[in-house]
Amino acid sequence: MDLIATIDRQLGTLAARSLTRRRRITDGACAPRQLVDGRDLLAFCSNDYLGLAAHPQVIEALREGAQLYGAGSGASHLVSGHSRAHHLLEETLAEWMAPHLEQARALTLCTGYMANLAILSALGVDADAMIFSEALNHASLIDGARLAKAGVTVYPHGDVETLTQRLAASSASTKIVVTDSVFSMDGDLAPLPALLAACERHGAWLVVDDAHGFGVLGQNGRGALEHFGLRSRNLIYMGTLGKAAGVGGAFVAAHASVIELLIQRARPYIYTTACPPALAHALLASLAIMGGDEGAERRAHLARLVEQLRGSLRLERWELAASTTPIQPVIIGSNDAALHAASRLHEQGLWVPAIRPPTVAPGTARLRVTLSAAHATDDVARLAQALNELEKAAP
Ligand SMILES: *Cc1c(COP(=O)(O)O)cnc(C)c1O
Repeated sequence: MDLIATIDRQLGTLAARSLTRRRRITDGACAPRQLVDGRDLLAFCSNDYLGLAAHPQVIEALREGAQLYGAGSGASHLVSGHSRAHHLLEETLAEWMAPHLEQARALTLCTGYMANLAILSALGVDADAMIFSEALNHASLIDGARLAKAGVTVYPHGDVETLTQRLAASSASTKIVVTDSVFSMDGDLAPLPALLAACERHGAWLVVDDAHGFGVLGQNGRGALEHFGLRSRNLIYMGTLGKAAGVGGAFVAAHASVIELLIQRARPYIYTTACPPALAHALLASLAIMGGDEGAERRAHLARLVEQLRGSLRLERWELAASTTPIQPVIIGSNDAALHAASRLHEQGLWVPAIRPPTVAPGTARLRVTLSAAHATDDVARLAQALNELEKAAP
């Protein structure tokens, strides 16, 4: 069998199931209005929830960071790539998370994907450890669990009772419960207070992936732990810096001993070049905005947009997910119907991604609408009207 023909057959199978993905080429900064494949579109796709990706002060800080630190870090953190900027960012993030952790320390990594691989592979290093993984967890957590030597058990979505029974029955040397805080394709929140109570009762870690909560949730934008008012030595927090923070990268915040273990043992941290220090420098500017009055104003505007959208959609056959976050999915059902809806919106100059299996369960293909503080009320009104009309006209 010809090697390329084998690949082409696999690609043909994807295409036959309407599962082929394609990339669109964007020009200009990430913003609600973008040139996409040469067309001017109003976008509801990004995770730039606070509109900081194109913020003039963040862009200026990135420029300044490049002048101070150059373009690249040149090596991994443990060799010579750990710059002053990385270190300041870690100290700032540790201070941010200190109300929620004991002896808080933070570690930055290049991506959230790598941060999740690092946490689970280092913590679940023993074969007699057990990872209790929520059913709707992000792919990076699933891959992290695969990289770990620990056993893995998947508990049903939001089901604290089943999880508690399994924790009680487990004789694992180390128990690690891991969950998204805000589920990325549904927008709902994990029951973190109940999960944490169960973890504390059964001596388990609670690893919280707050990719969609950091910057968005909580009075000061410190994320899901602030939102729920949680504090525990059992918590291991992962926040990403390429979504609401608008730049890129991620961090883990936890007890100083956990962070030291990651530095010593986590291969996805050790064996990779430190990300450019200029990004860390830009992130300090982004955090200053997020944590100040402007951040609070942006979160308030964003919350009003979420209310506006939910109040103006009149859907009968499609289902607006029960979400209070800026992730507002419209569940359509079949892959073809979701793709059709996305392409009709596109014809009208609106960009909303269709999400299909395996990212979501079969039969629940959806339009994943995300809102940003960079949107205007007129933008949301236009989207709501288009969705209402499209549903009525849909076959
Ligand atoms: C985006 C995302 C990640 C990965 O973060 P990156 O910085 O983009 O690699 C991890 N977990 C969740 C829930 C995410 O949505």
